This record gives sequence, structure tokens and C-alpha cells, in this order.
Amino acid sequence: MNFAGKVVIVTGASSGIGAATAVFLSKLGAKLSLTGRNADNLQKISKDCEKAAQTFVIQADLTKENDIEKIVKNTIDHYGQLDVLINNAGIIETGTIENTSLAQYDRLMNTNVRSIYYLSMLAVPHLIKSKGNIVNVSSVNGIRSFPGVLAYNISKASVDQFTRCVALELAPKGVRVNCVNPGVILTELQKRGGLTDEQYAAFLERTKETHALGRPGKPDEVAATIAFLASDLASNITGASL
Ligand code: NDP
Repeated sequence: MNFAGKVVIVTGASSGIGAATAVFLSKLGAKLSLTGRNADNLQKISKDCEKAAQTFVIQADLTKENDIEKIVKNTIDHYGQLDVLINNAGIIETGTIENTSLAQYDRLMNTNVRSIYYLSMLAVPHLIKSKGNIVNVSSVNGIRSFPGVLAYNISKASVDQFTRCVALELAPKGVRVNCVNPGVILTELQKRGGLTDEQYAAFLERTKETHALGRPGKPDEVAATIAFLASDLASNITGASL
């Protein structure tokens, strides 16, 4: 895999899978736009990447349209091109049909789906020029249902459908669109989503159901999969959920 000269936007680069992906891609020579809300974390990850590649930090809240516009505009102003968009940022919240509020539903859909829709829409003209690609970070919850995280399941199923449909729409223009669907990965996601220790323990227990290897994955392992799909090695793969 070689990303020399390629410009890559990574959303949610301030933590977990996004941070690991940024560091992984920096070692492969990518020029990175790192985005997230937490400026301190972004600076820290940027320093880790700078040892190997060029980085550019864009602090942005993906629930705000102006911020999404800023990500694409600032990337193009800074680097002059865009080759890969990695839609990784996301949140989780617990709740069933009986107790998920509309506010929670809206928060999940705005962060996990609407932001991908709008950011991709703005990125596509540049990706058509570069014959680039998009990698979305979905989840095993996009494929299977896990009760108790209803709105999260719906949001990730939407990411899968978005991936398949946009892959078909953009294939004639030479742009690939894929997604990764990780099982349980050791990051801050669940605790940030308000899972109690008991719920987190139950969640870890689910690892055995969601992955044949029966152990939680590491952010680096997902980063490698994302990098593969974004690389020229995957030049014949589009519309895939890996
Ligand atoms: P983390 O909580 O460690 O990272 C989430 C990232 O999303 C952070 O960088 C955060 O940045 C960013 N983010 C969240 N909300 C916003 C927002 N409104 N605007 C901008 N950025 C935002 O979790 P993970 O690394 O685990 O999650 C990354 C992706 O992987 C998510 O889409 C998640 O659903 C998916 N996933 C995770 C699994 C797991 O078990 N961990 C399994 C399957 C999928 P900041 O706080 O700086 O804004």
C-alpha cells in the first residue's frame, strides 16, 4: 500500500479507530486532513503523524453544516486536491423502541448518517477529478440487529445502504465507495455513549457472538482494513461491506 501524494480526510481522527487510521496512513505517506471536535486530541494525533507525513488539523463538529463545508474547503485550499474520504466519526447511545427519545434518534442520525451524506456530497466533485474513493466506518450493527441500541443499529444500516447505492452511482465516474463493519473494538466509544460498567461488560461478552475469533479487535486492525480498501490494492472493489 502506498499513499504517497494522496490527500486523505479522516473524520473522528481525534480518537480510537480514526486516530489509528491517521497514524497508519501517515506511515504510508498520505497527506492528511484530521478532523474532530477535540482540538487537543487532534494536535496530539497530528504530532504522531507528522513524523511520517504532512498533516492539517480542521476542528469541526459534524452536526453543523458550516463545519462540514469547512472540512472540504480548507482541505482543497491547503492541498489542492482530495483523493480519499474516510467517514469514520460516530457515536453510540443505548435505548429500545420503548425508551429512545426523538432527541437521541436525531443525535445519532445527524452524527452517524447526515454528516456522511453531506460531507460526501461536497467531496464527490473532487473525488471524481482524482478518481478517488470513500471508505465509511459502519458496524456489525449495520448488518445484524442487537436489541438495546436501536437507533445506532438503524444509523449503521443506513451507512451500509448509502455505501452500496453511492458505489453504483459513482462507479461509471471511476470513484469507489466501500465500508468496514467492525465488531467489538477496544475504544472509548461505548463509555462515551453512556454505557454503564455493567452494560459495557455485557457488550464485551457479545464479542463472542459478533466475531468468530471471539476476541475484541484493536483500532490498528480496523485501520489496516480501512487503508486496504482506500488503497490501489482494492482497485476492483466497490460497494463492499468488509
Ligand atoms: P471513539 O469514541 O474513540 O471515536 C469517535 C470519534 O468520532 C472521535 O474522534 C470523535 O471526535 C468523533 N465524533 C463524534 N461525534 C462527532 C461530531 N459531532 N463531530 C465531529 N466528530 C465527532 O470511537 P471509535 O473509534 O470506536 O468509533 C469510530 C467509528 O467506529 C464510529 O463510527 C463507530 O460507530 C464505529 N465502530 C466502533 C466500534 C467499536 O466497538 N468501537 C465497532 C463498530 C463500529 P471528537 O470527540 O473530537 O469530536
